[in-house]
Amino acid sequence: MRAAITGHLVFSTLHTSDIASSILRLLDMKVPPYLVSDALVGIISQRLVRKLCVHCKDIGSRNECPYCNGTGYSGRTVTYEAIKIDEKHKKIIARNFSIDEFNKYNTSLNHMPLKENALSLVSLGVTSLNEVKKV
Ligand SMILES: [Zn+2]
Repeated sequence: MRAAITGHLVFSTLHTSDIASSILRLLDMKVPPYLVSDALVGIISQRLVRKLCVHCKDIGSRNECPYCNGTGYSGRTVTYEAIKIDEKHKKIIARNFSIDEFNKYNTSLNHMPLKENALSLVSLGVTSLNEVKKV
């Protein structure tokens, strides 16, 4: 965090469920709120999901598909949410951080949450609802 506030571009990973939880995790790690607020420029939350096999997703004889060995899936793709931290985010983080307030503000920005992004992949036929529920 100190390197980040001195102008270095720092990438880090956290194992959390979404972008709001990433901020909460940093605060739980006793990083002072002003430092989280100053240092963050963006957050990406992502998961890999298996893609439906294009050769057999529309037919019933999946068991004999040589492309996916009958699994129904072939390859993976990313589902994600991403935000650029702006001045309002910084204020929300610096004072008593509330996930609800953070998420409400993101909704006002037409931010697409991870879950919605994943469900859009289902409606596009890229992956299945079961796969989304799994990850
Ligand atoms: Zn297949």
